[in-house]
Formats: sequence, C-alpha cells, structure tokens
Amino acid sequence: MTLLTERPPTARTSAEVELTGLAKRYGGTVAVDDLSLTVPAGEFVALLGPSGCGKSTTLRILAGLEQPDRGQVLLSGTDVTAVPAHRRDIHTVFQSYALFPHLSVADNVAFPLRQRGVSRPDIRGRVADALALVQLPAAGDQPVTSLSGGQQQRVALARAIVDRPSVLLLDEPLSALDRSLRQAMQVELRLLQQNLGVTTVLVTHDQEEALSLADRIVIMSDGRAEQVGTAEEVYDHPASLFVARFVGEQNEISGIVNSHGKLQHADVVVGAPTIAEPGPALALIRPEHIRVGLDLSSPADVNNIDGIVRGVSIAGISSVVLVHCRGLTLLARVPRDGRPLPHVGDQVRCSWDPAHVRIFPTPEGA
Ligand code: ADP
Repeated sequence: MTLLTERPPTARTSAEVELTGLAKRYGGTVAVDDLSLTVPAGEFVALLGPSGCGKSTTLRILAGLEQPDRGQVLLSGTDVTAVPAHRRDIHTVFQSYALFPHLSVADNVAFPLRQRGVSRPDIRGRVADALALVQLPAAGDQPVTSLSGGQQQRVALARAIVDRPSVLLLDEPLSALDRSLRQAMQVELRLLQQNLGVTTVLVTHDQEEALSLADRIVIMSDGRAEQVGTAEEVYDHPASLFVARFVGEQNEISGIVNSHGKLQHADVVVGAPTIAEPGPALALIRPEHIRVGLDLSSPADVNNIDGIVRGVSIAGISSVVLVHCRGLTLLARVPRDGRPLPHVGDQVRCSWDPAHVRIFPTPEGA
C-alpha cells in the first residue's frame, strides 16, 4: 500500500539555491561582480535589470552552462560549482523554446525522461500529467510545429517540469509572446510554480513580469545585486537611486538640500520623511502620488507647486495629467473615479505627502 505521505520514487524535492561571491569576466567585460544570493526552497525569485547587467550569465552559471571565475553555487548546501549541467537537478526554459521540430509534442516532453532511462509506462503517465499541468492535455500526438508560439512555450515548460527538477530556471520565457498572451501565461506560470513548489529563478527585463510573478526580486546593475526584496520593498522603499529610477515611473526634481534637510529647486521646496544630507540631490515622487487640485487660495509651501496643465490623457484605469511648474514638468496619474479632471490651460496645484518622497544624493554626473 502506498501511503499518501510517500513521494513517488521519481519525484524530487525542491532545493535551496545559494550563490556566494560569484564573479565572471569576458575579456575586459565584467558580467557578474561579487554576487551573493540565497533562494530558499520553493521560492520564486526574479533577476531584473537592464540589458547587459549580468542576469543571463548568472542564470547560466547556476545551470552549469558557464563556469564562474570566482565563487560557488550550492544546491541544498552541496557545492555543485564543478558539477556539469546535465548532472545538476536543474531545468531551464529559454525564450527560444529549443524544441525538437521533427518530434511530436509528447516526444518533446518525454525527452528528459528517455535520457534518464525511465520506463515506457511511467513516461506515458508523466508526460500526460505535465501536459495537463500546462493546459495542453490533448496535444500529445500533434507535431510540435503545428502549435502556436504560446502553445510551444507551454510544451517547453512541460518538458522542463516533467522530470520534477529541484530548480527551474526561466530565461525570458515569455518575451516572444504578445502582451495579452504573456499576461495570461504569467498567471498560469505562477499557479504552476506554486502547485509544484519548485524553486524558480526567472530572468527578465520586464519589470511588470518580475513584480507580478516573483516572491522576491533581485534588481541587478553592472553584475551586482543593487537590492533584493519583495515587490513592495523595491517599489516603495528603493535602496538606491538606480532602483528608484529603474522600477516604475518617477518624477525627478533636482536641487540642493538646504540646512533644514529639504531639497530646494528655485523656490520649490520638497521634504521627505527624513532629513536629507546637505548637497546636490534628486527628489523622486511617483506619478500616482501627485494630487492635482484646483484650489490655489492658500500660499504654496513645502511639497506644493502651482503650475499650468499642459496635457490630459486617459491611460486605462487612470488619467495622466502633465503640469508645467516653474521650469519643472510633473506627471500625475489620477484615478478615473468620476471626479472632474482639470483641462489643458487650467491653473492647478500639485501636492504630495512627504511620506512618498525619496531624496537621493546626486552622484557625479547623474
Ligand atoms: P543580461 O542577461 O543582463 O542582458 P548578460 O549576462 O547576457 O546580461 O551579459 C553581461 C555582460 O557580459 C554584457 O556586457 C555582455 O555583453 C557580456 N557577455 C555575456 N556573455 C558573453 C560572452 N559569451 N562573451 C563575451 N561577452 C559576454
């Protein structure tokens, strides 16, 4: 009798991934620079950053497709840095799908099981399970080339999970799909990852994808991790100017921090919850935190600027209002909740809560 608590013999457990002090150069180019990261078993982590920041190289080192110059890769505490890719219990889904065009859907999915010498009846059952998990239960006999791009990406996903790897790596897996299909696949991917409980590392340059899918996000720049945190942490509490500018939209007001710890731009004064260090700095305020009001009766003071509306447009559930204020252009995202919108040419007051202001010292040349 099989107890419910027993795992089938071929199922594996999800692994903790640990990268310690990884470094990789290509000639004079630093691709990864002293990167350390721990991903607990079952967590979904996204590596997010601009092109060339070292995301794919990090993933390839983790997969065993690239050797680091320094540092280690550990899976559940075991050093696998010198273990070749095919001996690591890791599967990768690439943007290019990398399917075999001459094989059927089922044979593509069965490939890793055949390589491991799994018995025929076992293969049949597990391929059917994997195809059901990616919502393609009836596609097994079809030539893989007869499927759409989105369906082929599901087949690639089924092939990656059929062997129940300890770690699943996703290298821009959805970026070839159109927007609506990509969004639908994101929801499915998240559900699938949660069902399987497999440790997952996703590489993406699409911040919406990273913020909506991952438990934690690693914001990378120049081969380093600038910040590791949940979507809320990196969005609401960016650890650096780079993260603040990279994630989401920002209004930027440049100026000098005065002796009261507030940023001054001409006669505009911006205050954050904490006192900023004196010197050149940038104040950042997200468009959704800027209120646009028509009441100009009291004098404008800290975190208030009067200006003229230069543009109003509808952007889905919000409207975008562009306001020119004494040499500054501010973008406000106003909810479309039935309240009247200002018109182009209106005199308005832009204001915001100091809690939503971040002030960063301006590095040389920023
Ligand atoms: P990302 O995935 O964030 O776009 P990559 O990890 O692909 O970044 O690349 C990081 C840096 O390393 C880039 O400057 C890239 O040009 C360089 N690089 C990556 N792979 C190679 C390679 N095989 N040979 C030479 N340079 C490479």
